[in-house]
Amino acid sequence: MIIFDLQCSNGHIFEGWFDSAEAFEEQNKKGLISCPYCSDTNIKRVLSPVAIKRSGRKESEEKEDQKKEVDYVKLYKEFVRYIKENSEDVGPNFAKEALKMHYGLTRKRNIRGYATEEEEKMLKEEGIEFFKILLPKEDDKDKH
Ligand SMILES: [Zn+2]
Repeated sequence: MIIFDLQCSNGHIFEGWFDSAEAFEEQNKKGLISCPYCSDTNIKRVLSPVAIKRSGRKESEEKEDQKKEVDYVKLYKEFVRYIKENSEDVGPNFAKEALKMHYGLTRKRNIRGYATEEEEKMLKEEGIEFFKILLPKEDDKDKH
């Protein structure tokens, strides 16, 4: 399973879940992916994928799984919970903290927070790896 951040030609950003990068390309080519806000089908990927790996599974178990409906909402919630439990919330200091870790000024750890577009661009230029997901509303309260 791969999550992509997608963007329509009107600039709306939303998430899409796909079996693989190929599945995304295939569906996008056919115009099967549309923006949930404006139904635009001119969609592109904006960030690197986040892959959720299944490991140590037998093929027979994989097949069993495919028969079941995948509960994406539950999967997403578990993913968000995992992120929250395994990272430190640095809020608006995300870019600063990421830089400090990058240059060894502070101990390496998982952090989460938010960054402006300029900060994200700067992090990319520094070669710092990070990924972006939308967290539920309660995390947004400090933004305003
Ligand atoms: Zn749109």
